[in-house]
Amino acid sequence: MILAGLQKNSFIDFPGKISCVLFTTGCNFICPYCHNADLARGEYPARFELAQVIDFLESRRGMLEGVAITGGEPTLDSGVVDLCRAVKSLGYPVKLDTNGSRPAVLRGLLEQHLVDFIAMDIKAPLDDYHPFSRTPGIHERLTASIRLIMESAPAYEFRTTCAAPFVSETTIETIARTIEGAACYVLQPFNRRAACLDPEFNQRQDPTIFAEEMKRLMALAQPFVRRCIIR
Ligand code: SF4
Repeated sequence: MILAGLQKNSFIDFPGKISCVLFTTGCNFICPYCHNADLARGEYPARFELAQVIDFLESRRGMLEGVAITGGEPTLDSGVVDLCRAVKSLGYPVKLDTNGSRPAVLRGLLEQHLVDFIAMDIKAPLDDYHPFSRTPGIHERLTASIRLIMESAPAYEFRTTCAAPFVSETTIETIARTIEGAACYVLQPFNRRAACLDPEFNQRQDPTIFAEEMKRLMALAQPFVRRCIIR
């Protein structure tokens, strides 16, 4: 497996742990606000072979507490299983970011105990994914991933990026009902840090949802989940 990026230290990508971040490339979604547009398009800002990553992780034993794998969409590459196995064999807990579109891959990873934490993005109510995915049967796939994660992941969170016009009070309440009983639901305010995947979205006046509205969204979601936070 070739990885498209390696961030040596992160305090935010693996909750509660100092981690490094490994980036896979390629994504089957088309989220307009995607900040990793090059990775989503399958481009390689850099190239790391698995052996290089292993060498790096061996050199950081005792300094890093975990490894976060993100993308792009990591589950698209069948090499993700070997990657997780290699990282686990070095003694590092693995956190995986996913858009939830490949429940069979998630199932395989969970059955083999190769992931310790899964963060799944929920972009919108599941029957309203058109701006994000044209994958046939995506509703059913996302539903399967949500169930699987809630039933079998050692730790997990669901996350929604809050950007206008995709998020509203109705949107968030609908998503929260879908994941009712979930351990953690994270609302992420959109911040324009770089050019996004969709050029039209880049022209939008201001997709930011500000602090007071974010608090209202959190209050709406909170009754349905065990913990709801803004991050
Ligand atoms: S934000 Fe969307 S398009 Fe970008 S990597 Fe994540 S799922 Fe893919």
